This record gives sequence, structure tokens and C-alpha cells, in this order.
Amino acid sequence: MRAWVVDSPGPVRTGPLVLTDRPLPEPGPGEVRVRVRCCGVCRTDLHLAEGDLAPRAPRITPGHEVVGVVDALGSAVTRLGIGQRVGVAWLGGADGSCRFCREGRENLCLAPTFTGWDVHGGYAQACVADERFVYVLPDGLDDDQAAPLLCAGIIGYRALRTASVPPGGSLGVYGFGGSAHLTAQLALRQGLRVHVLTRGSHNRALAAELGCDSVGGPTDSPPELLDGAILFAPAGELVPVALGALGRGGTLAVAGIWLSDIPPLNYQADLFNERVLRSVTANTRADGEEFLRLAQRLDVRAVDVRDDRLDRDR
Ligand SMILES: [Zn+2]
Ligand SMILES: [Zn+2]
Repeated sequence: MRAWVVDSPGPVRTGPLVLTDRPLPEPGPGEVRVRVRCCGVCRTDLHLAEGDLAPRAPRITPGHEVVGVVDALGSAVTRLGIGQRVGVAWLGGADGSCRFCREGRENLCLAPTFTGWDVHGGYAQACVADERFVYVLPDGLDDDQAAPLLCAGIIGYRALRTASVPPGGSLGVYGFGGSAHLTAQLALRQGLRVHVLTRGSHNRALAAELGCDSVGGPTDSPPELLDGAILFAPAGELVPVALGALGRGGTLAVAGIWLSDIPPLNYQADLFNERVLRSVTANTRADGEEFLRLAQRLDVRAVDVRDDRLDRDR
């Protein structure tokens, strides 16, 4: 089968991804093989290809927004059957036995397996996955709509919950790409006021089109104090900016797996009054199941977004 692999991590223009030929993988015990129909491109794939995140296996195939159909079952598979349409996401496995797994926080597992980082992902004609970590996709959701929900959507959902905005409250969204535009739709439909602070003109127009309450540049002040905010842009310099826009007791959730360095914070200016700064690390399967149900019910739809860097480079 054909598969893309990260050969030597480096800037995308140097071609770190290489197309190769590999035998079709055979599913092991408890695993299924998924024939890939489509796979989304997540910012994390870019971080891996460009070497921001250290490789955890040589010549790995990225891709963790995989939509496909089960076409082979390993031994002891009980949950899934041949022909079922499924999604394979970032959390490919957890040990189930560490303190965090036992507490229902498998996103913090001490021995996790990530799709497209530890094991081959979906930039290929097929991949294998632990059936316990595979999502059965609802009917009525097209393949290309389902794919971005599997990481951009799920992580955004966890970030939204982490930002702890009370019902009817205000949410700041810093950076407006794949994950943010899905999260903003969810927040709006749940009755929050959403203020978007981002650079790219294309994505600013998109934020306005989706009905966000205000749209400004990344360092602008939103029109009201924020009850919570999510930093989607991997830009550490925005942390004090976003903290400064929070009201008392507000939370800033950093959604990315990678962030450039955060400048020194000033306790009084940036954190006092019980403002909270939190990261968001992967997700639990329960997050994924909840989000996929909500996304379908509230008709959260992926549309064309653009990497803000394209605007900057122009
Ligand atoms: Zn664990
Ligand atoms: Zn991702």
C-alpha cells in the first residue's frame, strides 16, 4: 500500500513527508484494520513533520483524523465488525492501569499511544487501531465532514470545557483555524458570546460569517471582559495578552500540543484575581463520544479555513 512517512523532519518546504510503499498492515489481537477513505490534516501533523515535536518512532506515518471502513479483524475483537465506518483519532491507546486511567483521566495516561506519532496513522491507504479507541461514526455525517471533528473538533471541545465559561458567558478565541472555527460554532449554539482575536483576514471574515459576536486582531481588546478564553494559536506571546483580557476568576485554556515560549508573566497584571492558566492535553474517549454527538445535534460543520501563516507570508 502507499503511505506517507516523515523522513527527515524540517520545514514543510523541504519536503519532510515522503511517499513510500509498505505491506498492508495486519491487525494484532484487539486491533482492526481500517481502509482509509480520508484523513484530515491537523496542526500537530505539521509540528511532527517540521520537527517541533520530537519523533517517537522512525519514518512514522502521520494522520490522526482518519475516516475509513473496517476491513480486517485481529483476534479477540468483539466490538467492531467488517464494513463498519469508523474514525481513528489522536489517542490510540492508554494502559488502563495507571493512576490517571483509573481516575477516568486517560488523556493524562502515563503510557499512552498516539496515532501518527507512536503508531502509523492515516496518511496511508490503511492503518491498524485498537478497537477500544476507535469511534463508530454516526450515519448522516459525510466522510470529509467527520474527519476534522476527530481531532480539531474533539480537542476544541475539551478546551471549551476547560475554559469553564458559565452559561450565557463570554468566550475569547485566540487564533481561528481548524479547531477554533468548530469550537466557536459549538460555543455560539450553546448560547455563549464569542469574541475572536486573530490575524488572518480570510479567517476573520469566516469568524464574522459564522456569527461570532466580535472579531479583532490578536492583541486587540475584546469588547467585554472574558469569562474564559482559548488560545489556539501556538504563540506563547499571546498568553499574557489573553490573560489580560480575562475578567476575575477567568480561565485561559491553551489548546495546542506545542507553544512557543511564554514571556515572563507579572503576577499582579497577568494572574491575580484568581485567573487560571491551563493546558489541554489530548482527550478521553468520553470527550470524543460526547463531542461527536453534540456536533451532529448542533450541526457543527467544518468549512475552508486557512493557515494564518499564509496571510503573514504574503
Ligand atoms: Zn494510563
Ligand atoms: Zn490533532
